[in-house]
Amino acid sequence: MKCPFCSSEDTKVVDSRTTIDGSTKRRRECNNCLKRFSTYERFEESQIYVVKKDNRRVKYNREKLLRSYLRNCKKKYK
Ligand SMILES: [Zn+2]
Repeated sequence: MKCPFCSSEDTKVVDSRTTIDGSTKRRRECNNCLKRFSTYERFEESQIYVVKKDNRRVKYNREKLLRSYLRNCKKKYK
């Protein structure tokens, strides 16, 4: 699992619990920048596709969206 702050692969799970909807929430800590973040593990939802402007269908990817979202936030507040 990559750290969303510094992209280090060196992260550890400090806490993990199952949420009401059956997904697993893990609290992780980065060994590199020592920041903490949460991840959710869930069964893949029935394939959701996003239709792009040029009519291409791409698989909806939550994590990818989240990552780009976090990247944008970082830029904004620097
Ligand atoms: Zn980090």
